[in-house]
Formats: sequence, structure tokens, C-alpha cells
Amino acid sequence: MLKSDFHMHTTLSTDGKSDMADMIHSAASMGLQSICFTEHNDYDNPIGETPDFFVVDTDAYYARYCELKNIEPDLDVYFGVELGISQDNHEYFNEYTKKYPFDFIIGSSHYVGNLDPYTKEYYDSFESEEAAHLKYFETELECAKLFDTFDVYGHLDYALRYGPTRDLSFTYKKYADILDELLKTLISKGKGIEINSAGFRKGMIGPNPAESIIKRYKELGGEIITVGSDAHHISELGADFDKAEAVLERCGFKYYTIFKERKPEFISL
Ligand SMILES: [Zn+2]
Ligand SMILES: [Zn+2]
Repeated sequence: MLKSDFHMHTTLSTDGKSDMADMIHSAASMGLQSICFTEHNDYDNPIGETPDFFVVDTDAYYARYCELKNIEPDLDVYFGVELGISQDNHEYFNEYTKKYPFDFIIGSSHYVGNLDPYTKEYYDSFESEEAAHLKYFETELECAKLFDTFDVYGHLDYALRYGPTRDLSFTYKKYADILDELLKTLISKGKGIEINSAGFRKGMIGPNPAESIIKRYKELGGEIITVGSDAHHISELGADFDKAEAVLERCGFKYYTIFKERKPEFISL
């Protein structure tokens, strides 16, 4: 069974619902062996009124983490962050990530230009769902080339969660050129991906990214894959990890990855 949840948010994130101490106690009581907090830093988020609208107070976050990390003796608790990366904020993140002793950094595309795939407006601005997805993957490819300051790319097909047909009409083949280039870029830079189980509880048939993307990542030589619930509440911790594990096995993985001090460690399935 998967014992490490490496993607979660507490009330220190703008959209988090549960307190950090409650998350730690819940994770321990579920029998998890390790967790990593990955609070949001979407610096210069185009939706917010100020650039800091969706940015965790990292000093307060680190202080609270240090205070609580040992409260459950059988649970290893790590310090991470989820960066909302875009073509415009890589210099800011280069500096930001040097300032704190992160164990793990997720880079995620939450926006395409000024639009959020979460909104209907995003899909309405394209002539088809396919064109909207393609633009999302193109944005990720640009970011993957631009950034070095992350360990894994978060929920690689995030836009699919909010498209009119979710992942029902998605096939790898439709986007093979761009996705192959994206995956090869990540692999050549020593970056991994995550299997984000939130897809299952957001009305999709699979996780983010889709099983076909994870399979192709493995075929192309990808080794680093973390597992995260993207919990924003204690009830979502470790959610659908049985399904995520089955996906990993079907894709040929014999292990999954955790990070300590930005270095990958591999744990057998
Ligand atoms: Zn995210
Ligand atoms: Zn997240």
C-alpha cells in the first residue's frame, strides 16, 4: 500500500480547509509513514487583486512546520511547496526557492496567460476543447524548458479536470507530439511527475495525469514519480491511493518516489 502522501494543503494556503496539526494526526492515524506539505505559492496569480493573493506566508509556514513536525513519532513530515509557475515568474521563484530549506518542490501550471482552466471562460475562449488542452500543454512545455526550480511537475493534465468532457474524450494520440516533447524535456532535466489522485474525486475516470501519460513517461525512461492526494481537507488525505497504486503497477512501476532535502528516494510498491 502507498504510505506517502506528497501533495497537500492546510489553512496556510488560501484555499486550504484543515489545520496543519489535524492533518498530521489524521495522516498518522491512517497509517501513513510520511507526508509532505506543499502549500501554494502562485506568485503573480492573474486572478488575485495583488501578486500575493495566493502566496503562503512562508516564514509563518516554516515556523509552524518546525513546531509540529515531530508531534507524531511514527510519521515523517516534510516541508514542501507547490509553485504556480508561468512564463513570467521564474526569476522570482529562482530567488524564493533559495530562501527556505524545502524538501520537495512541485511546479504546477494553474493558469494559461490570464485565464484559469478551472473557469468556463477558459474553454469558451477556444474553438474546441482540444485546442484548449493543446494550449495548456504548450504552456507547460515552455515552463518546463524555463524552470529548474522544481522536482516534479504537478498534475500534468490539470486542464482536463475542468474541460466539458473531462478525461472522457482524452487520448494520448491526439496530443502525442507535444506530450512526448514535454515528457522528454522533463526526463532530460532530471525532473519527475506526480500521480495526483484528486482526479478520481473530481469526476474523472483516472488520476492527473491520465494513465496513458504516466505509461508513456515510463516508456520514455521516466523514473521519478511521487504520489499526492492534493488534500485541502483531512478527509482527502491519501484519497484513492488504492486506485493510484493500481495505475502505477499497470504502467510498469515497481516503486514510487519521495523527496528529502530535494533528493529522490525510491520506495517499493
Ligand atoms: Zn495545483
Ligand atoms: Zn495542490
